[in-house]
Amino acid sequence: MNIPSSLIKEAIGWRHHLHQNPELGFEEHNTSNLVVDVLTSLGIEVYTGLAKTGVVGILKKGKSIRSIGIRADMDALPIQEMSGVDYASCQMGKMHACGHDGHTAILLGVAAYLAKYGNFDGAVYFIFQPAEENLGGGVAMVKDGLFEQFTIDEIYGLHNWPGRPLGDICVNDGSMMASFDIFDITLQGIGTHAAMPEYGKDPILAAAGLIMALQSIVSREVASLKSAVLSITQIQGGDTYNIIPECVALKGTVRALDEDTRLMVKNRLLEYVEKLPALYGVKGSINYQERYPATINNSECAAHIRRIAGEVFGENRVIENVPPTMASEDFSVMLNAKKGAYLWLGVDEVNRPSAPLHNPYYDFNDNAIAVGIELWVSLVEKTLIA
Ligand SMILES: [Zn+2]
Ligand SMILES: [Zn+2]
Repeated sequence: MNIPSSLIKEAIGWRHHLHQNPELGFEEHNTSNLVVDVLTSLGIEVYTGLAKTGVVGILKKGKSIRSIGIRADMDALPIQEMSGVDYASCQMGKMHACGHDGHTAILLGVAAYLAKYGNFDGAVYFIFQPAEENLGGGVAMVKDGLFEQFTIDEIYGLHNWPGRPLGDICVNDGSMMASFDIFDITLQGIGTHAAMPEYGKDPILAAAGLIMALQSIVSREVASLKSAVLSITQIQGGDTYNIIPECVALKGTVRALDEDTRLMVKNRLLEYVEKLPALYGVKGSINYQERYPATINNSECAAHIRRIAGEVFGENRVIENVPPTMASEDFSVMLNAKKGAYLWLGVDEVNRPSAPLHNPYYDFNDNAIAVGIELWVSLVEKTLIA
């Protein structure tokens, strides 16, 4: 397939514009407007209003009722950019440090190619979602009726992946990324003079006991070939040397690569918080929030994209069974609702390794744009065969 160089150049231009004008989750108004303008100029039907700033473009050709959805995320991060590129962020303290500018530019490039030259029979849904970072824009799009309003048979998404050579396409059967939950624990004791602890109930000691005990959930109860993480990431309590405080607050996160493990760790955590501090005479309570489920590919769809990527780029560029990461992704919610697959696209070049994701020096590799466009266009044309 020959993607015209003018189209790739235009997509790179959109990427630089987005990079220079980053917007945080659910505030992607200008980004969303750019997406709408480009899609409209291509004659693509556009729907807005899902999850505030989300956009869905629909391109139909032929008579088939088959359909495919491709998703890109649009939000930036609250990081001060230090990359020094010409098109660096104009917004203080905000930057595209996760490459969502690149993902958006790729999907616009795919829309441009398919609208002008696409040879397929069916419907393509271009899904531009807000707020992937922490805020659950994907969750909101699904809640707002993405899959009720639109008939989408299967869904695909990608993320650029520093540490992998440019053009590598990594697609597992099953888990790609972990679930992501957060919790706040409060340990309510009885304050007293530190020299007379017998008059109080010490929440600091209870916190120490609880933190140690919680580490046994993953190390002793999760099977060694399964994966989970339980981290306490914040502890606050006490004001000075000679007072045992009334209260200690803890925060933390739970990650797991499958739902059974996630649920087991959650339930055991709740049980420990209820029962263990009580032994110290301290009352434990917890606010546990389930954020994103694990990102788990449908194996049929994963095999489908691997086969297509192998045909287009060569078998040696396709990686199956890549070690999943304990980071997370809210495309998982779409994958729980529809069959599909999520993949990582390598972005490192020999003389130009990418900075890590969420790093102030990160800048999406423009050379990955042509690869991403060709991959998605091939997926559409080889799935919705004309
Ligand atoms: Zn990110
Ligand atoms: Zn990201």
